Amino acid sequence: EKLNAADAIALENKYGAHNYHPLPVVLAKGEGVYVWDTDGKRYYDFLSAYSAVNQGHCHPKIINALINQAQTLTLTSRAFYNDQLGRYEEFVANYFGYDKVLPMNTGAEAVETAIKLCRKWAYERKGIAEQEAQIIVCENNFHGRTTTIISFSNDENARKNFGPYTAGFIKIPYDDIAALEEALSSSQNIAGFLVEPIQGEAGVYVPADGYLAKAKALCEEYNVLFIADEVQTGIARTGKLLAVNHENVQPDVLILGKALSGGVYPVSAVLANNEVMNVIKPGQHGSTFGGNPIAAAVAIAALEVVTDENLAENATVLGELFREKMNDYIAQSNIATLVRGKGLLNAIVINDSDDSSTAWDICMALKDNGLLAKPTHGNIIRFAPPLVMNEEQLLDCVSIITKTLKDFEK
Ligand code: PMP
Repeated sequence: EKLNAADAIALENKYGAHNYHPLPVVLAKGEGVYVWDTDGKRYYDFLSAYSAVNQGHCHPKIINALINQAQTLTLTSRAFYNDQLGRYEEFVANYFGYDKVLPMNTGAEAVETAIKLCRKWAYERKGIAEQEAQIIVCENNFHGRTTTIISFSNDENARKNFGPYTAGFIKIPYDDIAALEEALSSSQNIAGFLVEPIQGEAGVYVPADGYLAKAKALCEEYNVLFIADEVQTGIARTGKLLAVNHENVQPDVLILGKALSGGVYPVSAVLANNEVMNVIKPGQHGSTFGGNPIAAAVAIAALEVVTDENLAENATVLGELFREKMNDYIAQSNIATLVRGKGLLNAIVINDSDDSSTAWDICMALKDNGLLAKPTHGNIIRFAPPLVMNEEQLLDCVSIITKTLKDFEK
């Protein structure tokens, strides 16, 4: 028996921890760029589960891979080999150009993995004493909400009263090469620089052209690992397979999650070459579910969809069209400024206040008008539809968004 929306919300509110603030819509079905609520009302998904559903909801090829594998073998743990994992590891390593992959499940877990990898590398390859390694991170980063990751977060809501915190992080302003060079030269104990190629959760901040390439060059000069968190920006979202590809940068350590599985199954990964990855020895890191046969089969299918359907190119073309149309509207309105972003990772900034109340009201109105989006921080609304969208659908979405915004003009 199906639950109606009010009952489904009441149950979540009563029995679920209050760790989220969802928009009041109860989704029951998804296909491609669309999702449907329990009343059968259809919406454009303009969030894609924070950029996880890049390949579209319930993509048949990925779902087939899931079903076939689910009927054959689901989980072995890494106590044994399984017949899917090696095949996936070869595929993903070649796809992104690395020697090795360490499979995990969630984005935050993969970030934790990269931090451990970087510290061990510093100890073994740079001779930095145990307990002394420092990793440079950026202001307003978002890398997840585990204990170590919140230790270097600026999000006071996620951080405050959850201490004691993990030591060993130096925070510098984002998109600031001088600050990076100063931090790199400040100590012999710097092991890595952990960076989002575009800051997604912070509000879609795109750094200046050349920032990532210069940062990578500096890391090489100081023999420090350049660690890119592409959990949100990767897998064609910004118009290239990876956001670092816009500047021809190959990170020493690459962190992937979300759309690595098309949002079908929790799959994340850390990739690196042998010189780095081989510092991790058996038993030092892992997870029961990491590299399970379903994850492996699903992720291969999800990456094949990215290639077969030219999702990166589609994101480039539709992203440019989206910003052009939105900027045309914004130029003659007073409600929003600044459409910023790359590919199909974009945001607008609502004018009237710094807090999120108007942005929230706008997202509620967008919902009524058949499009789902959510404020990121404060007065910023992120727009990240599935990359399988076509031009007609995108223009339809632009028209929903601009019509909705018009109602908020003063
Ligand atoms: N890194 C980045 C850049 C992210 O955007 C996110 C999720 N928004 C994470 C890590 C955490 O991923 P997960 O929620 O799968 O743990």
